[in-house]
Amino acid sequence: MRVPPGIADDLTFLTAFRRDLHAHPELGFEEERTSDLVARILEEAGLRIHRGLGKTGVVGTLQVGNGTRAIGLRADMDALAMPELADRPYKSTVAGKMHACGHDGHTTMLLGAARHLAATRNFSGTVHFIFQPAEEGRGGARRMVEDGLFDLFPCDAVYGLHNMPGLAVDEMAVVAGPQLASSDSWRLTFRGVGTHGAKPHLGRDPITAAGTFLASLQTVVGRVVDPLQPAVVSACALQAGDPKALNVIPDTVEIGGTARAYTPHVRDQLEEEIGRLALGTAAMYGIEADYRFERRIPPVVNDPDATARALSAARSVFGEKTLTNFPPSTAGDDFAFFALEAPGCYVWLGNGPAVDGALHHNSAYDFNDAAIGPGAAFWTALVEQELKA
Ligand SMILES: [Zn+2]
Ligand SMILES: [Zn+2]
Repeated sequence: MRVPPGIADDLTFLTAFRRDLHAHPELGFEEERTSDLVARILEEAGLRIHRGLGKTGVVGTLQVGNGTRAIGLRADMDALAMPELADRPYKSTVAGKMHACGHDGHTTMLLGAARHLAATRNFSGTVHFIFQPAEEGRGGARRMVEDGLFDLFPCDAVYGLHNMPGLAVDEMAVVAGPQLASSDSWRLTFRGVGTHGAKPHLGRDPITAAGTFLASLQTVVGRVVDPLQPAVVSACALQAGDPKALNVIPDTVEIGGTARAYTPHVRDQLEEEIGRLALGTAAMYGIEADYRFERRIPPVVNDPDATARALSAARSVFGEKTLTNFPPSTAGDDFAFFALEAPGCYVWLGNGPAVDGALHHNSAYDFNDAAIGPGAAFWTALVEQELKA
């Protein structure tokens, strides 16, 4: 693996910075301290700074030579609303908040690349270093786009990176096609007519309808979606009645869940078929159903050309440890909104073994500092190859 000496020399600073971020986690759109630090470091490195897109977002621009191509590199900055339970010297100092997805590491690696590239300037063109707020379900990427990210900073390609426990820190996966699923929510209310639990014939029982609906729900994936196309439908919330009133059939049952897919067609199918099942079940029981499908995040699908460029950069750093056959994740990432605006590629950087089984969003997870050098080296190689001097 090849990490440029300039980045290797910066690792003491970068590691301390990563641990400082880890100790001071901030949730989506609240990344005030984090974005202050990011902006200051970019400014000190000589980049042009733009703040305020997506509230706490920061864009640092580095323009070198007369190359006309521009690319965007994305790091996310937010933490999760969960407690950190493992003990470490730089453990979260904020109760109930934790960097459990490694975004402290993502921010650090992109800063490391910016510092290095600002010093070496071995390219010709424009790089926009995009520090995004609120990746964890709060819509930071979409807000940045709505606030004019790509009007202010047009990009010919955009790239994202996420750490991956289970891959070694000298491994990177770069794969064309689907990487992350769409992440959508659905909600459903069955409206019956509440009645005495002993006299169901005098009402319309929504609970029995809910049982039928839930028992049939997996037929959407099992019988409607192409078996060769991945899809997930899960009911994750169910609310009805009162355990203190076991002689009351309630008026309503509320059900909600998630739906995941990798193609627009399957995403459409899930929206339509869950609804069809809900309304059909309601009709069968003579009750009403309100159904809502909320499209939250599209799938992340790597563009072939951007992927070829990322692959070439990865190979120059990771050599034969560059994987091209890594499976997609059923999680989502709102990097998808950036990739709708410019050809995009999202890569996976090894985070080493999952220590004590602690994967992303686990209260004992930690970003692996040994990945900082390889990650920053990848970003650097990508810029130097994409924007060849
Ligand atoms: Zn996460
Ligand atoms: Zn994440």
